[in-house]
Amino acid sequence: MFSLTEARTVNWDTGPSEQTMASWLKKLFGSPSVPPPAATPAPSPTPRPAAPASAIREPAPTTPGGPPTERSHLALLAKFKHGSDPASAAQDYWANVLPDTVPNTLALFRRNGWLVDAPWQQVFATQHRVDELKPLLNERGLKVSGKKDELVERLIAADPEAMRLRVAGVKAWILSALAECPVDNYLARERDAEAVAQSTAMDSLRAGNLDAAVSTIVAFERTRLFPRGIGIDWHGEGIGRHLAERARNILKASPGILRDVPEHELALLRPVAAMLELTGESRAKAWLPPGLVGHPRLDVETVVRMLLFHGSNMATLEGMRANGHKKVEVSGGGDSCPACSAMDGKKFALSKAPELPHPGCTHAMGCRCLYQAVFEE
Ligand SMILES: [Zn+2]
Repeated sequence: MFSLTEARTVNWDTGPSEQTMASWLKKLFGSPSVPPPAATPAPSPTPRPAAPASAIREPAPTTPGGPPTERSHLALLAKFKHGSDPASAAQDYWANVLPDTVPNTLALFRRNGWLVDAPWQQVFATQHRVDELKPLLNERGLKVSGKKDELVERLIAADPEAMRLRVAGVKAWILSALAECPVDNYLARERDAEAVAQSTAMDSLRAGNLDAAVSTIVAFERTRLFPRGIGIDWHGEGIGRHLAERARNILKASPGILRDVPEHELALLRPVAAMLELTGESRAKAWLPPGLVGHPRLDVETVVRMLLFHGSNMATLEGMRANGHKKVEVSGGGDSCPACSAMDGKKFALSKAPELPHPGCTHAMGCRCLYQAVFEE
């Protein structure tokens, strides 16, 4: 019986260029728990080039190349964990980290038996979202409730030929049994390294040692195949100082919008907001201390975000001052509260720039106003 327990909704075009490997890995692994490293499967004497999905966990065949070990190979192979179009690897960021060209690398993966044709059932699962599966079930008078895997299995059991035809022209490769364990171990190692770096940095911030936290994060990003952020020069000399300056603004932030949050809670939340700045993460959840009262209107995530925004708006102003700007414009964005809307598009002398986030903001998501530089004619 075809099983889809491993199949998850993964965008086939999702790659690490968009943000970071971290966010990409999170898409592959929803759970923060790390499975124990599995042993590399013992070689078996029978070659088996194309494994059906149901057989993917079986022992690996012997191939001339042995299992993959090169880090960039493992990273690219991970993209094929749930089946992917080989054309999706034709991105500059892969060409930049692989020891050979992308086409040669993919050819090597095929030659070594690391990538095989994905079974059509897997392709069908990956190519369809739940809202696309439901009408297909409806048309056939089948139950539309259940998890995605169950919907897929129900459709394939009821009408295999029609489902196969829906993905007949779609090309997809998937990891072979030989490559699956090494790739899983690689992903687990990468997640472990990130978790260790983040918890070390968080401990340093809570202990008031910003420089140590910055060093930890910079050292970690320098070890990554794809460091986070676009245009951040992690190997440059100034990166540590730059991050520390931004985080320092957050660590001393007392924005008016948070005047109703008890000071002892702000003291607990500032290091968390600084952590978002250092790591580029968007959610504070993993680092929030339990039992906080927060703000009467804003949830704790929003309170942390307002600390982060305050710090980054302060940094923007400092940057404008350093660049000799005299005026600043406030941009209120689309969906904002009356107080923020009233300020949208207004220009101020740099020295008279109003505080952001707006202290009078009443939006449930908090203030999202930004400073924009005004270029004098
Ligand atoms: Zn507002």
